[in-house]
Amino acid sequence: MSELRRDPLTHDWVAIAPARGRRPHRMPGPGGPSPRRRPPADPACPFCPGREDATPPEVWRLPTPSGTAPSNWRLRVVPNRYPVLTPADRPARHHTAGLRLSVEGVGSHEVVIESRAHDWDLPDGDDAAVADVLRAYRARCRALRDRRPGIVLPFRNHGAGAGTSLPHPHSQIVATPIVPARFRRLFDIARGYYDDHGRCLYVDHTAAELADGERVVATTDHVVALAPYAARTPYETLILPRHHEASFGDASDACLDRTASLLRRVLTALRDLLGDIPYNYALINAPNGEEGTACFAWHLRIAPRLAEPAGFELGTDIAVNPLPPEEGAAELRGALRPVAGPGRP
Ligand code: UDP
Ligand code: ZN
Repeated sequence: MSELRRDPLTHDWVAIAPARGRRPHRMPGPGGPSPRRRPPADPACPFCPGREDATPPEVWRLPTPSGTAPSNWRLRVVPNRYPVLTPADRPARHHTAGLRLSVEGVGSHEVVIESRAHDWDLPDGDDAAVADVLRAYRARCRALRDRRPGIVLPFRNHGAGAGTSLPHPHSQIVATPIVPARFRRLFDIARGYYDDHGRCLYVDHTAAELADGERVVATTDHVVALAPYAARTPYETLILPRHHEASFGDASDACLDRTASLLRRVLTALRDLLGDIPYNYALINAPNGEEGTACFAWHLRIAPRLAEPAGFELGTDIAVNPLPPEEGAAELRGALRPVAGPGRP
């Protein structure tokens, strides 16, 4: 029999339904290991080195040691040329008309060009290359979180099945002029728990999951990787700090480096286990202005795209997950490669 589980952090409901995974599939699509296919190099790629004028002026960069010329970068952050939200030097105006409310699309939408190499991917580099990407997230979270209300969301789409439109390795960072309902709910749940218990829900949750152990994927001194109790998709994984730290903008260098290493290990394990599957991840921060709170912790949510939501999910918002997260976590644990030491690839 399937089981309905409520996620302790999000209060989202999920149906853990192994029988669903056994139904026949007649449509082509993901499922089962696939060979990793690298995109061919593309001379028209707007994110490749030498095409710096194809993007708006960059807002942040990590230079190469060789100098400050426009092409001497190892990572760049640029405004998205087709943005969802655009900067303005004033707050977003709200318009109401009867029951209708709209807010101007003020905010920002940036692209993190993660590497000079067109065919690179996060598991291909070393921990330092992934740490560079997280350094860009941290710097932009710090720079963009002053606007209130709002949130800053770094995220990554990987593979056409996860919404990627360009193969050059990149992530995106969006800053919104409103607090999305999902964030408001997450934060309300965390604040309610703090009011009831005087402790951080995230710290208690991580400690309880570590004590239980069944859904733990990997641990380090600063951060852990867990399968959520109510995972919405097979192999969904959370990476989160062991202490309460509401914004990734405040992560220490040590915490950032451990997060980079853990993220690379989890993405590599997913690729070793399932092939080059599409996935999304999102780095959830507390709403802007709540950085100092004792009741929340930032977390990175990695969601493989192995099934399309259908009518039941549309109608109920209850995700149907055919793989119990305890089994997914055990598979990922088994696929994790050892921690790379100095001098190792
Ligand atoms: N883009 C850009 N400059 C370009 C071409 C594309 O900024 O010359 C942006 C594009 O708007 C898109 C992003 O690059 O948001 C690529 O993002 P991704 O592949 O992750 O998925 P998408 O945002 O298209 O769903
Ligand atoms: Zn490229």
